[in-house]
Amino acid sequence: MNLPTHPLRTFGAWEGSPQKPFVIAGPCSAESLEQVLETARALKQEGHTQLFRAGVWKPRTRPGQFEGAGYDALSWLQTMRQEVGLPFVIEVANADHVEKALAVQADAVWIGARTTVNPFYVQEIAEALKGSGIPVLVKNPIHADLGLWLGAFERLEKMGLTDLAAVHRGFFSSYSAPYRNEPKWELSFELRRQAPDIPIICDPSHIAGQRDLIEQVSQVAMDIQMDGLMVEVHPIPEEALSDAAQQITPQRLGQILATLEANAPKNLALQEAIDQEREKLDQVDQQMVELLRSRMDIVQALGEMKAQHGASIFQMDRWFDLLQKRGSQAEALHLNKAFVEELFQLVHKYSVEHQMGVYTASRKHRDE
Ligand code: PEP
Ligand code: MN
Repeated sequence: MNLPTHPLRTFGAWEGSPQKPFVIAGPCSAESLEQVLETARALKQEGHTQLFRAGVWKPRTRPGQFEGAGYDALSWLQTMRQEVGLPFVIEVANADHVEKALAVQADAVWIGARTTVNPFYVQEIAEALKGSGIPVLVKNPIHADLGLWLGAFERLEKMGLTDLAAVHRGFFSSYSAPYRNEPKWELSFELRRQAPDIPIICDPSHIAGQRDLIEQVSQVAMDIQMDGLMVEVHPIPEEALSDAAQQITPQRLGQILATLEANAPKNLALQEAIDQEREKLDQVDQQMVELLRSRMDIVQALGEMKAQHGASIFQMDRWFDLLQKRGSQAEALHLNKAFVEELFQLVHKYSVEHQMGVYTASRKHRDE
């Protein structure tokens, strides 16, 4: 990752490890100066948090819910930074939000899940951020469309923003239970494959939707080598004005992070054991491919013989015989018979195809 150029950046690169994830924490919404200060002080005391999060304008799915304190909250966050010393990140959903975030020198901004779905908004935000060099976090879109997520990064990069990270917060699904949002971890793997330089931070709060599951989801995130965690934290979670069920106290976050850290060496040892077994698998796979090569050499020779004598390539009896022999062998070795039969169907298909090639080439040669 390029080193961030934002002059206000004080919190280090996003990358983290299971031993030391990059931690973003704070309330779902900034509710009052007191709540912001109390949360930040407690987080500061716990000592893990590198960046303080708080929603200022809250995109609620239904109107009539708490929609954030708006402009007032910006000054609470500035006061918090001055008094407690934590840099802060806020959500921006349009150009006006960006203008206000830059005016109060927010240390970073995040684009929410309901915004990443809309390329018009992402483009508007990217243009408004141009030249600011501010770090930007992009949450995954509400639904599992990797293109929209990647597209948001491309739009930001085109505007010269280089300090970017992804936030995995899960996906809307009618079958999300026990979670609020289905994790679909495989999408983050695909993001990592297609954009390997973008660090990925997990938001266990919005995946879980209930505080009892935060630890478990965070553990998975660490096990699959995500770089950090963005966790919703409130001094009295049950009384939070938004997302009350999923917020935890700063002290609870401290406990969870300590557990994750304690698990990290154990997981490291496990990883080593897994890697050793995989080396054995690699050796077997290599032998399998070499055997396929030898097999194909015989197929080639047979093809030439058949062509020379005008014999037909596909011989039904031989095929049934092969299938029967290998099926029985599979059973004797306690291998799934269907698995071995399917495998040989594939091997046979490509052998026949290869012999067809040999046959046609040799016929052509003879006719010339
Ligand atoms: C949030 O972080 O409070 C939020 C609104 O998240 P999301 O965009 O992931 O729903
Ligand atoms: Mn929230």
